[in-house]
Amino acid sequence: TVVGVPKESAAGERRVALVPKVVERLRARNLSVVVEPGAGLAALIPDDAYVHSGATLGDPWAADVVVKVAPPNETEVGALRAGSVLIGFLAPLTDPGKAKALRERGVTAFAMESIPRISRAQSMDALSSQANVAGYRAAMLAAEHLTRFFPMLTTAAGTVPPAKVLVLGVGVAGLQALATARRLGAHTTGYDVRPEVADQVRSVGAQWLDLGIEAAGSGGYARALTDAEREEQQRQLGKAITGFDAVITTAQVPGRTAPTLVTAEAVEGMRAGSVVVDLAGESGGNCELTEPGEIVVAHSVTVASPLNLPATMPEHASELYARNVQALLELLVDADGALSVDFTDEVVAGACVTKEA
Ligand code: NAD
Repeated sequence: TVVGVPKESAAGERRVALVPKVVERLRARNLSVVVEPGAGLAALIPDDAYVHSGATLGDPWAADVVVKVAPPNETEVGALRAGSVLIGFLAPLTDPGKAKALRERGVTAFAMESIPRISRAQSMDALSSQANVAGYRAAMLAAEHLTRFFPMLTTAAGTVPPAKVLVLGVGVAGLQALATARRLGAHTTGYDVRPEVADQVRSVGAQWLDLGIEAAGSGGYARALTDAEREEQQRQLGKAITGFDAVITTAQVPGRTAPTLVTAEAVEGMRAGSVVVDLAGESGGNCELTEPGEIVVAHSVTVASPLNLPATMPEHASELYARNVQALLELLVDADGALSVDFTDEVVAGACVTKEA
């Protein structure tokens, strides 16, 4: 089986779906890898490094399996061979038109975001590997934009208290943001509507903010709040937020617009120089003042909504993503490296969004 690695085409996308180390491992599993020239350059991986690891340079779209990071654009869907396999983030819940186009093209597509979040599939969980990068970067951005220190300082010129950081929505990204902010010396607090998160928040040295609203949904995700719950949550958060220097938000409900947790009024209540970093910008944002992809300053509070943070750390983000892709590929091929897809497998079935008829 030939695996093709195209150069990513989306604006600002610096990641690449496979890295040389993983190419070596795939070669050992009897797979061949064709890399588009320049595919790794934005992640600082030269073509030579791929060639050294056993890949060839060439047209990745002619391959049996094409592995990508971002969803393919129209031209790329057209470049896929009928009967080929595509693996990548495909946004199946928010862009169903893409799945339709892939089906019409006769492509069997596996969406990395649809891989079931069960223990056996942890090594393939790209949502988690990339959320870790995003959470880390979010804490760094909060520290960068804040006009104050994160750590407590005791100096001859006086004592500075530690910054207080609140993370709203503590999934994988939120947990990493809490851990990173604490490593930088901040005093950290986490909040979520899934009660089981409390222990995870405490395990990274943060306090748990309990507002008495529980909204656990299916599959380990949160459900959307009712109007009454949402109003109550916004009211209580508005009061709580005034005591924090930095608020990092990551709250998402799969396939829906992100919930508004931080109102304009709540931002107004924050001390001048404070920061909101909103990681939910791609699905509309958790802060009323968020402009996805922009940094706005309102009442002297910076509201930043960076998009695609994993692409800002392309080296490690690609490395982790490539491992996830490798684990999925290994599930799809036999010992000789031939495609042998068991659609009754829970992980395969969960990830599959289109199947060649
Ligand atoms: P996510 O990105 O979908 O959402 C981030 C967080 O926002 C979640 O914790 C969610 O509860 C929270 N949230 C949603 N609406 C909210 C609201 N109105 N107010 C406050 N918080 C709100 O989450 P994720 O990081 O993708 O994690 C989702 C689940 O998957 C978690 O239960 C996680 O533990 C689980 N998970 C399982 C595995 C595994 O077993 N393989 C791996 C990773 C994650």
